[in-house]
Amino acid sequence: MIVKSAEFICSNTQISKLPPPEKPEYAFIGRSNVGKSSLINMLTNKKGLAKTSQTPGKTQLINHFYINEHWYLVDLPGYGYARISKTKKEDWNKFIRTYLDKRESLQCVLVLIDSRLEPQKIDVEFCNWLGEKGLSFVVVFTKADKQSGLKTDQNVALFRKALLETFEEAPPFFITSSENKLGKDEVLGFIDEINKT
Ligand code: GDP
Repeated sequence: MIVKSAEFICSNTQISKLPPPEKPEYAFIGRSNVGKSSLINMLTNKKGLAKTSQTPGKTQLINHFYINEHWYLVDLPGYGYARISKTKKEDWNKFIRTYLDKRESLQCVLVLIDSRLEPQKIDVEFCNWLGEKGLSFVVVFTKADKQSGLKTDQNVALFRKALLETFEEAPPFFITSSENKLGKDEVLGFIDEINKT
């Protein structure tokens, strides 16, 4: 798929104010600093579309971007901030989990994982929760340019192994780098395929 247009539609703190669920929707989520904004900008060819390096925990918004006048790319707030209060974390949980659980137009969740790290408990637990809810998800490993391919492959294998403790089959995964556009065609091609069905 070639992204011809990517338009910011709205930022929301309330589920009730989301756009009508009339278009296929793909949600991007991951720990703060995982490289989510950079990935969204890379996929859409728009440098400033998603704001990179926001102050952690400051904005807890669901951002909708309309792609090719056909589908929504949804930028969800990052999880796993060390510095935010328990109440804020609970608010995050409620808000995002309600969105994920109830959004009828949601086709797939793209869970972003930093390819430099060995499996983190919070990421594995989040994937397990998606599985429990019966939500379709894929894993997108980010920042692959930052270390050797061998190291990336090792971390990918460890993450898959961690998921296989819960899942019968590991979900599809993508290895990406916003720095050199690695994985761009694969991620967009995957979304394209679902949109065609
Ligand atoms: P977010 O908080 O998940 O939206 O993360 P950002 O996109 O703001 O990225 C966090 C930091 O990682 C920034 O300094 C980015 O420049 C850097 N970064 C993000 N993606 C990549 C990547 O693919 N390669 C490299 N080398 N750095 C990246």
